[in-house]
Amino acid sequence: MTTTAYTPRPITPDALAQLRDVDDAGRPCVPYVDPEGGDPLRCCLRAVEPGERVALVSYAPLRRWAAESGARPGAYDEQGPVFIHADPCEGPARERDGYPYSRAGALRTVRRYNAEGRIVGGRLLEIPAEETKGFDAAFDEAFADPEVVLVHVRAVEYGCFHFEVRRDV
Ligand SMILES: [Zn+2]
Repeated sequence: MTTTAYTPRPITPDALAQLRDVDDAGRPCVPYVDPEGGDPLRCCLRAVEPGERVALVSYAPLRRWAAESGARPGAYDEQGPVFIHADPCEGPARERDGYPYSRAGALRTVRRYNAEGRIVGGRLLEIPAEETKGFDAAFDEAFADPEVVLVHVRAVEYGCFHFEVRRDV
């Protein structure tokens, strides 16, 4: 197992329960069985396995964080597609092996937010061969700015939200 310097956070059970009913875009959840698997699950921080019952829902990570923290992200609020299990699930394995969906050569955006929920910079990350070190360094760099409290990782090509990390978790 590869230990990470920061904790990748899954979607919370409360938020999942809501998303399995109506998603953050107001659309009803439409479960399906995925015969092939491979898509990134935001509830369990692993890939879908063939035959699992999943759903593609719209998720607003900054809005949900702001609802807890009292921040007012205003126009920085955004929502996008994420895969989740269609039924209540275990969540991420306790023993994590590096960061989720970590594949050398894949492109990620690492976007930084301040306590008000505003974007305060970011960077493109091409995941290096030493995947965990690459992510750790990108997060170290982000949190070196004392203003940064939250970082979102997204896939570049589809814009899919992958996970967030927070300062001092
Ligand atoms: Zn799950």
